[in-house]
Amino acid sequence: MTEINDMTPGVAGLQTRLVIETITQVVPGAEIVEIVASLDESISGFDAESWAAPGTEHALVHIRKRVVGILGVQNAISSFSCVVSGVAWGVLVEPIALQDGAVIGALVVARQGRVWSSRERALTRAFGGLLSHTVTLASRESALLDQRRLDELVGMVAERLMSASSRTRQDVLTWTTRVLAEFLGADVAFLRRNDHQRGLSILEAEWPPRDIPSPDPLGEVPFDADPVFAATKNLRKPYLAGVDGEVDYLERVEKGSGVPLVGGACVPLLLSESTWGVLGFLHFGLHKWTVEELSALQAIASMLVQLQARIDAEERTEYIALHDDLTGLPNRRSLLRELEVRLAANRETAILFFDLDRFKVMNDFLGHASGDRVLTTIADRIRTSIRPNDFAARLGGDEFVILVGDVGGEMEVAATAYRLLGVIGEPIDFAGQEVTHTASIGIVLSTPGVKNGIELLGWADVALYAAKRQGRNQAVVFDEVLRESVSERSRTELTLREAIEGDGLRLHYQPEVDLRTGKLLAVEALVRWQHPTRGLLPASAFITVAEETGLVVDMGRWVFAEACRQLAAWRREYPDLPLVVRVNMSPAQFVISGLVEFVENCLRVHRIPGERLCIEMTEHAVLQEPEQTARILQGFQALGVEVAIDDFGTGYASFTELKHLPVNFLKLDQTFVQGINSDPSDKAIVEAIIQLGRALDLGVIAEGIETSATIDKLLELGCHRGQGYLMSVPMSPDELAPVLRAGAIEISKFRPAGKVAPALSERSL
Ligand code: C2E
Ligand code: MG
Ligand code: MG
Repeated sequence: MTEINDMTPGVAGLQTRLVIETITQVVPGAEIVEIVASLDESISGFDAESWAAPGTEHALVHIRKRVVGILGVQNAISSFSCVVSGVAWGVLVEPIALQDGAVIGALVVARQGRVWSSRERALTRAFGGLLSHTVTLASRESALLDQRRLDELVGMVAERLMSASSRTRQDVLTWTTRVLAEFLGADVAFLRRNDHQRGLSILEAEWPPRDIPSPDPLGEVPFDADPVFAATKNLRKPYLAGVDGEVDYLERVEKGSGVPLVGGACVPLLLSESTWGVLGFLHFGLHKWTVEELSALQAIASMLVQLQARIDAEERTEYIALHDDLTGLPNRRSLLRELEVRLAANRETAILFFDLDRFKVMNDFLGHASGDRVLTTIADRIRTSIRPNDFAARLGGDEFVILVGDVGGEMEVAATAYRLLGVIGEPIDFAGQEVTHTASIGIVLSTPGVKNGIELLGWADVALYAAKRQGRNQAVVFDEVLRESVSERSRTELTLREAIEGDGLRLHYQPEVDLRTGKLLAVEALVRWQHPTRGLLPASAFITVAEETGLVVDMGRWVFAEACRQLAAWRREYPDLPLVVRVNMSPAQFVISGLVEFVENCLRVHRIPGERLCIEMTEHAVLQEPEQTARILQGFQALGVEVAIDDFGTGYASFTELKHLPVNFLKLDQTFVQGINSDPSDKAIVEAIIQLGRALDLGVIAEGIETSATIDKLLELGCHRGQGYLMSVPMSPDELAPVLRAGAIEISKFRPAGKVAPALSERSL
């Protein structure tokens, strides 16, 4: 602790000398004049000062002892006589007291033999009073100075804490303990955190640095191992620790630091409900704390709590931003960050991109909660099977990526991948029912010079799809052949973009007819690309690229607007033909906002009633964003626009999901239609879908009809709507003109003689 005299050099000291000089002049015959400080110098706050006539030094020492002895036990003191070496002395003693009456010293005037006159007594009393006044002033001044210095300290610490971040936290905490220790003259300062869950007091920062033994007896201390640490557990007010009764604690501190403790203080870091930790100080020696110091420390403690709360919040936000909610694994963003770091450091890295096989089906079958359990189980298995330097992340859905360092070579990585497939494929127990599932892995090895993480991930993805195509449950390494397909794709992407922006797209139309009569019911608009070198390309040749690159969104707008324009033209040309145009839309188009408004606008511009248009979407669009898709479909319904589910039967849409959607038609996927006469399971599926259509009051359309036998079978099963090469390939508007004029195609051409259509009374879909 800082003493008053250090704070106010000379103020009290100067007065004491002056008073002594003055008294020797105004009190004739005074042989000893002395200002005695009380025993406790830290309280007296001024320099003891004395003057003695030559030859009286011995008496001075004797008298001082006596005065100090008396001061130690009683405050009131006036005069006494004493005999020193056979000589009688008359001693006047005037107490020096602070304003609150605390006696902190005394003015002593002594001489041999003579009795003091009342005037001399009065004079001495007056000087005593003067000294009391001066010391009171000086101590007040120094208290003010103390306070100002404390305020400055708090301000300085506040500034530093405010600019701290989770990165600089440790340094700032250590800095704080150092600054406080130095300011308070403490031998040790420390910050400890209370881990209430584990019942531990944990050292967070300390000053000065020490040789830390291992294990550190001061590092993590269970509360119940030591009464002093126990006292800090739920400490709510500053706690001053002395020597008594804290033997265990002292021993612990001595073991940890080699120094026996003398005194200490702890200030709690308070949260509203609990104690976050304590800020503590040790003095190897006696130390008196002032109220002001303790309250400054409390202010700093509360700032430390705020800092911690802020850092916790920042860390939580950062954690959330970089981790996947469900599994706790790093997410895509942190994967890319890590990948970038590894690539920048030229670290050899293999990317293992994997995806569970048919996870969607399992998810639908077991329910979402179980699906989540599968994902968390797999995440745990990955976490425990990778090496410390590997890095695992979940990209979302059932996609995971593992970065493997120091790979060795392609063979080693493939071996690692297959080991992982084994671990992942182990059965998971669901209430006694074991569920097994496989995964596919795409692998890419970092190539020197390739620094783009996203590009590498893209390649791993390509390899993953190759693994899926090759039958799943395997790992495929991205190689030259795959690389060629990627560059082919990017070439396609480039020219396709030009085609969409320029004039490269066309629409062809395929008639859909009543299979019993040949009557034209609708046409399906199918996009074509007039490729500069490859000629007219069917949608199947480029739609995947368009979907994967997002180009399908712009393409879809063009298709819809062009279909509307064409339909408007036909309506003018064939006003009596109740023609419906069916337009395909990809899942990506359903995710872009404003789709319904766009459709509405096209209808208005071309003056087309909604019911003349039907949107075809695949089951994937339904499954991907079920809620948003449902909203969009309701929007279509409000416009009168009909909706058909395309390629029905291939996407595992569950019947319950369908029931809630405003859908008008199911289009039987052509693979089932084509197998209807040869493959009993195809026939069973077609039959089931036709029945489902009946149950849900939906029309069923068969596509891909290539033989007349198929027509017969469809009619037999009760499906009367169909399209296919047998009746007509998709055609340009010019080529389609004769069909439109006739309003029908001649279906009997395609039916062997003798076959009669079932009675028309059968439900016509
Ligand atoms: P889809 O909607 O199921 O269209 C039917 C596909 O089957 C068309 O291929 C059509 O030419 C072909 N097809 C029709 N009848 C037969 C047949 O009897 N036998 C066989 N083997 N095939 C037949 P295309 O035009 O290549 O279209 C492929 C897919 O591309 C379409 O399947 C559709 O999903 C998508 N698509 C086509 N046009 C567009 C479009 O404008 N926008 C979007 N988003 N997708 C489109
Ligand atoms: Mg279609
Ligand atoms: Mg289809």
